[in-house]
Amino acid sequence: MQRKPKSSAPTIYWFRQDLRLSDNPALSAAVTAGSPVIALYILDDDAAGRWAMGGASRWWLHHSLTALDASLKAKGGRLVVRRGDSAAVLNGIIDETKAGTVFWNRRYEPAAVAQDTKIKADLSSRGIEVQSFNAALLFEPWQVKTQAGEPFKVFTPFWRACQARPMPDTIMPAPKSLPATPANVKGESIAVLGLLPEKPNWAARFPEFWSPGEIGAEEKLGTFIDSALGGYSDGRDRPSLRGTSMLSPHLHFGEIGPRQVWRAIRFAEDRSPGAAATQSDKYLSEIGWREFSYHLLYQAPHLPERCFRPEYDAFPWEDDRAGLAAWRKGLTGVPIVDAGMRQLWTFGWMHNRVRMIVASFLVKHLLVPWQQGADWFWDTLVDADLASNSASWQWVAGCGADAAPYFRIFNPVLQGERFDTQGEYVRALVPELAAMPPRFIHKPWEAPAEVLSKAGVALGRSYPRPIVDLQRGRERALAAFGTLKSAA
Ligand code: FAD
Repeated sequence: MQRKPKSSAPTIYWFRQDLRLSDNPALSAAVTAGSPVIALYILDDDAAGRWAMGGASRWWLHHSLTALDASLKAKGGRLVVRRGDSAAVLNGIIDETKAGTVFWNRRYEPAAVAQDTKIKADLSSRGIEVQSFNAALLFEPWQVKTQAGEPFKVFTPFWRACQARPMPDTIMPAPKSLPATPANVKGESIAVLGLLPEKPNWAARFPEFWSPGEIGAEEKLGTFIDSALGGYSDGRDRPSLRGTSMLSPHLHFGEIGPRQVWRAIRFAEDRSPGAAATQSDKYLSEIGWREFSYHLLYQAPHLPERCFRPEYDAFPWEDDRAGLAAWRKGLTGVPIVDAGMRQLWTFGWMHNRVRMIVASFLVKHLLVPWQQGADWFWDTLVDADLASNSASWQWVAGCGADAAPYFRIFNPVLQGERFDTQGEYVRALVPELAAMPPRFIHKPWEAPAEVLSKAGVALGRSYPRPIVDLQRGRERALAAFGTLKSAA
């Protein structure tokens, strides 16, 4: 039960990873309280430490804040943007305005939890009330437990336990209007935050994929439901198709919440009873993986830095800087890997199937520590998310909870041939190989000289030879894994 603020002093609504007006419980509570609302965003890079937002996320944030400000203005409010230490900014605004209550939706990253806990205690000691809510997850990470009262370490029983709980059936509408922000509260312009790339503008093609903000999120969800949900189980593995929802950055920044997604998917299923429930179930189980990642991060705050399974701390990784550099640039000579890494660089996103392939190639064929891959993803993904990125990298590396076994090593050629059968994905992203026939597009090094010449490919010159022999790389990975087993 939340208490009502004590007076008509303004309240502060602190936006963080919930950049939306709909289904935003903390914002609704702040507005319902009836006082003027100061809608605040603070860019506080120091608090996030090593996990301050990467470049692609900052591009997203710039546009998302711009969209949010426009939505607030349309309702009579405005966004107040400040930079610096969050506690100092909040205290400054409280001193300026005599605000009596601060509302926020909870965050779950270890540094954010520590910061929020401290701020709440400090504000309470000043007599300022803090009211916090859940906008980011279907369930709080501590709510779902095994019968023994422990956190889950395996996805399937976790998700079964989630589904046994009542699922959200009401969604809070956006406030009809917002009380005006007190005129004396000043902020900075979003442009001054310097979130956009300087020259060269590596994000030039991001808008072809993305429209940050709440409206963009609703559009992505609608398009997905209309055009891809019905074939999701198969379509989700075809990187050349728009077979997935592409909601991940919108979900990360809280421009849409998982309750809204859940509701919309179930509603679509009800509207067309012929639609296979298995497709919706499959899709919602991916939302379940997102929940599970937060559940893991909450129980193991070291997840972004250290292996969930401590026995993997002794894994004999290689210091392969040249391999890592080639991987980052999409110049490994393995077409599906290079296509994925170039999709990441060009659009700030990579298809899930290809994320698994490139991550496996890095940690298994090159033996580069998973943390170095996760770092690059952190900087280049618009959906970089501490819980999902860390859990997914650990899943691929075999050292996570409920992870793919280490000895299951993806063969990138077979993966390419299976999921990008005609090579359209590679052709679109690796123009050097655009004229290669499907038979050789995933293994140009096996193509006869005349096929290469006809396709205009000069291996080692126009496109690299593979930086690692795939069979030898596989054997080396298994041998490295063997040292771990014999040490155990
Ligand atoms: P859809 O297939 O439409 O799925 C719907 C939603 O479910 C996604 O938007 C996402 O929120 C969630 N989801 C789907 N798959 C997963 C998963 N395996 N784990 C957790 N949540 C999932 N996802 C991120 O959001 N941020 C990351 O930083 C991130 N890093 C990853 C790193 C690696 C090495 C791998 C293998 C996966 C990573 N993922 C990450 C998970 C997944 O690749 C993306 O969520 C997905 O590709 C996003 O595209 P989509 O929205 O079209 O997915």
